[in-house]
Amino acid sequence: MNKIVWFRYDLRIYENGAFTESIKKGNILPIFIFDEGLFKLETSSSFHLKFIKDSLNDLKKKLRKKYNSNLSIFYGNTLEIFKYLIQKYSVTEIYSNRIFKHKYLTDLDKKCENLFNNLKVKWILKDQFGIDLNHRNRFKWSYNWNKFIQSDKQAYSFDCKFINIKNNFDFNIVKTNKINGNLVQLGGRDEAIKLLDSFIEVRSENYQREMSSPISGEVACSRLSPHITYGTISLKEIHRKITEKLKKVCTINKRKSLIAFKSRLAWHCHFIQKLYDEPELEYKNLNSAFDILRKDFNEKHYEKWKTGMTGYPFIDACMRYLEKNGWINFRMRAMLVSFASYQLWLDWKQTSKHLAKLFTDYEPGIHYSQFQMQSGTTGINSIRIYNPIKQSLDQDPNGNFIKKWVPELKNIQGKLIHEPWKLTYIDQKSINFELGKDYPLPIVNNHETTRVARDKIWKVKKSNQAQELSKLIVQKHASLSSRK
Ligand SMILES: Cc1cc2nc3c(=O)[nH]c(=O)nc-3n(C[C@H](O)[C@H](O)[C@H](O)COP(=O)(O)OP(=O)(O)OC[C@H]3O[C@@H](n4cnc5c(N)ncnc54)[C@H](O)[C@@H]3O)c2cc1C
Repeated sequence: MNKIVWFRYDLRIYENGAFTESIKKGNILPIFIFDEGLFKLETSSSFHLKFIKDSLNDLKKKLRKKYNSNLSIFYGNTLEIFKYLIQKYSVTEIYSNRIFKHKYLTDLDKKCENLFNNLKVKWILKDQFGIDLNHRNRFKWSYNWNKFIQSDKQAYSFDCKFINIKNNFDFNIVKTNKINGNLVQLGGRDEAIKLLDSFIEVRSENYQREMSSPISGEVACSRLSPHITYGTISLKEIHRKITEKLKKVCTINKRKSLIAFKSRLAWHCHFIQKLYDEPELEYKNLNSAFDILRKDFNEKHYEKWKTGMTGYPFIDACMRYLEKNGWINFRMRAMLVSFASYQLWLDWKQTSKHLAKLFTDYEPGIHYSQFQMQSGTTGINSIRIYNPIKQSLDQDPNGNFIKKWVPELKNIQGKLIHEPWKLTYIDQKSINFELGKDYPLPIVNNHETTRVARDKIWKVKKSNQAQELSKLIVQKHASLSSRK
């Protein structure tokens, strides 16, 4: 019996349900496909590609070492590639882990399903996130998820042969832009293990206290997100190692941190479940009463936001940091989105595409839910408009982060770095700096645009229509165990 094991967002062999199941018997062809359509989407980027390439190189090595098997990598039209492989190798079964991504991949999966059915090939799908496929019962979701995440490892039995085809894939076929940030994350399981171990043993000590600043968050956060997205490590393994550590003696700080971290693993899956239940949240307001807002899209503001030239130093520093490194911490993501959606009044449907490219960890379920929450379009979450000046003072009190990422401002002393528009003419002359020439004046008035945005969003939120729809949304989506 000839089978294909199709690696996708599960780039590991350890605790990989589909892989473990496939190697029980038969002849196996392990493959990965760079779907040409996927990498042409406006949400795809070199950050994603580089992470995938690293992870595939690592996966290849592991398959070679442990099973003396090749990993065949293809680039092109997924359906055509399958048609060719199924016919050439008389394939009767395909194994993969179920994925819950955006519309493009959901549609592709439907097309694959049809193709496999037509060719009488069985598609065996395994679960790696504890997602409820049939009519989610939100009263039992947490219970079910905990059962899933704590369930035993799959029994291991290996009695198959690998089909080794000549496939020296040239990664240069997949075009990428140069990315050279010092903090760009490396893919592969070894990296994931290094991060997890160093987080558990050392870095988590001040996780909760230090996660909010981009300076301390860089070290204090686990940095595991792209590994979870691309599955170089399984969520169960992360959960198990954290649980084991919690059984040992650890400081109160560490204990609190690890518990907080563990609950985020559940949030991860909760948001994936949400997108599975409501796929339209990728491109429609969750609460349609908000559709009347943000009709005009100010391209100039969008461009300034994207390029880190808004005139708000902390916003610009965060955007430039993200653009270089492909990661920034949660609070700064929320602030960037809040500023775009409220002060600049830009539609999240467009801004979300840009950040999807910059987040190496782009995970549609979390991404679009968070965008909607930070833009006030769910109707069920509290409205929070971040003040970029307050965030700057709280998270970067000495302005070191700003000075590093917005070097035009590096000579400004004291608190004025957070609000350079307050520099007097003499202040500017004394440091040989000219506002509006060396660094932009704020493109909007923070105070005024915040007030206008708050009024507009609350007017809709209080309307009967929004409240009626919100009730339905709560019934369908709101988690009962925790607030995200
Ligand atoms: C607008 C916006 C968009 C986001 N888009 C993404 C995205 O595309 N992909 C993504 O993985 N995260 C996203 N997040 C959530 C969060 O910012 C990142 O998971 C986190 O910054 C990743 O860094 P870390 O692995 O060090 O996180 P840690 O704090 O160490 O968290 C560990 C893991 O828990 C999960 N997690 C953490 N925070 C959340 C959360 N709020 N909701 C759900 N799961 C969470 C992630 O898998 C993360 O890797 C987004 C947040 C916002 C505000």
